[in-house]
Amino acid sequence: MGKVIFVGAGPGDPELITIKGSMAIAEADRIIYAGSLVNPALLELAKPGTPVHDSSVLTLEQVIELIENAVHSGEKVVRLHTGDPSIYGAIQEQIVALESKGIDYSIIPGVSSVFAAAASIKKEFTLPGISQTLILTRLAGRTPVPEQEDLKSLAKHRTSMAIFLSIQDIGSVVSALLEGYSKDTPVAVVYRASWKDEQVIRGTLETIKEQVKEAGIRKQAQILVGDFLGSQFERSKLYDPSFSHEYREGTLSGKVLT
Ligand code: SAH
Repeated sequence: MGKVIFVGAGPGDPELITIKGSMAIAEADRIIYAGSLVNPALLELAKPGTPVHDSSVLTLEQVIELIENAVHSGEKVVRLHTGDPSIYGAIQEQIVALESKGIDYSIIPGVSSVFAAAASIKKEFTLPGISQTLILTRLAGRTPVPEQEDLKSLAKHRTSMAIFLSIQDIGSVVSALLEGYSKDTPVAVVYRASWKDEQVIRGTLETIKEQVKEAGIRKQAQILVGDFLGSQFERSKLYDPSFSHEYREGTLSGKVLT
């Protein structure tokens, strides 16, 4: 009996897969990948002649059937998901099916596009005095969002926020966010973070809708919102010269950065 390894492919740049993930691809007997977002360059890590299947044209039942046949012939199957598999990866339904059939599996995490987007714009989501919370969310689409997580109510917390799967309806995103954030709150849209054709748009809740329309971005983008994108914040306590902790004795004579 073979096994299944769910692998986070990372956000796009093939160098952003983990070493463990790339080794799993190199050792795979079969690969099922989410063709709409996974960089096909990653498939070049596989042994020559390894069968590959694009799951974007398959149903859950077909994916499970493929896996079942493969593991019964002793194959090691890599199921490659974009970014990190735990975020909008639709892996739980596969896990349940594999468990019901007694098929062994494991999961290798990946770099989510939310972190690739933050890296592209060189920002930190959790700034002292600004926000210590990051909300990852989306607009309801064909997949509903529970009422208590409606974007309007999440906006009231004015945390740092990353919105997936929603750029096609930037107008609704902006009007929901304005229920909590002020109209001059900074917004960054990162299209295809870490890919060669990555694009970054910076604006505010007042301007971003027009900017996105003008750029013609309708998919594969992160919408990042919050004052973490601005320039105001307090320095960290962790590296403050007067602050003692387990690894360092505080002193007041350290040079204070401005
Ligand atoms: N598991 C993935 C998310 C899959 S859902 C992850 O961890 O990143 C697909 C959504 O992710 C897209 O609609 C888009 O909002 C976002 N996304 C995926 N790849 C992206 C990239 N390279 N740049 C920006 N957003 C991306």
